[in-house]
Order: sequence, then structure tokens, then C-alpha cells
Amino acid sequence: MNDCIFCKIVVGEIPGSRVYEDDEVLAFHDIHPFARVHFLIIPKAHIATLADCGAEHERLLGKMLLLAPRLASEQGLDAGFKTLINTGRGGGQEVFHIHVHVFGGGDPVKRS
Ligand code: AMP
Ligand code: ZN
Repeated sequence: MNDCIFCKIVVGEIPGSRVYEDDEVLAFHDIHPFARVHFLIIPKAHIATLADCGAEHERLLGKMLLLAPRLASEQGLDAGFKTLINTGRGGGQEVFHIHVHVFGGGDPVKRS
């Protein structure tokens, strides 16, 4: 077992507030939301960053992206939402297990 915090959420070693789960993908609420609704979509398999993905990840990445509008709608973001994938230290990535931020609602929020 590695010490990746998102891998630990996948196996239930750390609790996560789950909004969606299947055999390949997990979505859960961000612990420090920067909008009224803010959740993360991750693959269950550990992939560190978007820059580590290759052609073999095309289907998985497409699946994660296509989940965003569906889950956003289920979370009440009918007027739209933002998506964000921080990649690498220079991209502001803090957790090195690839994740798509989906957030919106309330006052408009920007993140540098
Ligand atoms: P990033 O800067 O893109 O790597 O963002 C990592 C995100 O993970 C941040 O928005 C954190 O608030 C969030 N996060 C870190 N630990 C947890 C956790 N245990 N449960 C839910 N979200 C988390
Ligand atoms: Zn991981």
C-alpha cells in the first residue's frame, strides 16, 4: 500500500464523502470546498498526474470527463460548473493522484 491519500479513500482507509463510484472511478466531495458544490473525480487506479497519462488512458479520461456534467447536475449545478485539473507542482497540484475538480454554485469563484 502506498501512502497516497486518494488511494486510501478508494479502499476506505480514509473516509470520503462519496458522490459516485463504479469499478474504475470514484467521486467525492472536496474536504476544503471553494464553492457551494465542489467534488473530485478520480480513477481508482493510481495515476500521479495528467502528464503521466498515455493513449492507454484515453477511455478512462473520457469517462471521467463525461461524468462531470452528470454528477454536477445531480449535485444541483444546473446553471453550469467549472472543471480544473492541476498538473504537477508548477500547476498547483498538491495531491499526486490525478483528479478532476468539479465545482460551482454560490458566488462566482476563481482559483489562481
Ligand atoms: P490539487 O491542488 O488539485 O492537488 O487539489 C487537491 C484537492 O484535494 C484540494 O482541493 C484538497 O482540498 C483536496 N483534498 C485533500 N485531502 C482530501 C481528503 N482527505 N478528502 C477530500 N478532499 C481532499
Ligand atoms: Zn493514489
